[in-house]
Amino acid sequence: MDEMKRLKAALNTCIQCGTCTGSCPNADEMDLVPRKLWRMVLMDRVDSILDSRTFTLCSSCYLCTLRCPRGLPLTAAMAALKAVATQKDLKKHRESTRFYASFMESVRRHGRVREGEFMGLYFLSMKNPMLPLRFASLGIKLVKKNKVAFELPSKTGPGNLEGLFKKVAEIEEAS
Ligand code: SF4
Ligand code: SF4
Repeated sequence: MDEMKRLKAALNTCIQCGTCTGSCPNADEMDLVPRKLWRMVLMDRVDSILDSRTFTLCSSCYLCTLRCPRGLPLTAAMAALKAVATQKDLKKHRESTRFYASFMESVRRHGRVREGEFMGLYFLSMKNPMLPLRFASLGIKLVKKNKVAFELPSKTGPGNLEGLFKKVAEIEEAS
């Protein structure tokens, strides 16, 4: 897998100091702390890495990247692992990758997220009629606080961010 080889090369100079783990606000929830995850990348433990929830819990805050004494691209590495899991459509990560994809699809169409459409896209992609029930109490709270706009779903929208999304796709294809 080319992406794993690229990651291994990018993380090659990790000295296992643990600064990334100590800086990560989400480390307590991760099954493999960041320091350990990088070690497993260097040891080619691909199956264990993709079985881990660590990279799906990364909130891209960049603290680890800013503090790593070797200047390693750690947030980008977390994103690369998310991309591998998305491409492989791994069952374990399906909920989080489709949640993220639905969010970004709504942003691409409208320049901002439309909450109703975003959740509709997510529920449709998961094909699980019981899933909305899991979000019911949160949805009720958000509606009571006027945090959800009721707008009809639209497949097109003004596409405010279309150009930006296209450019990113071009850059990713060329890299
Ligand atoms: S902070 Fe950098 S050098 Fe230290 S363990 Fe993390 S990745 Fe390795
Ligand atoms: S970018 Fe991700 S892994 Fe790094 S500190 Fe933030 S949440 Fe943790």
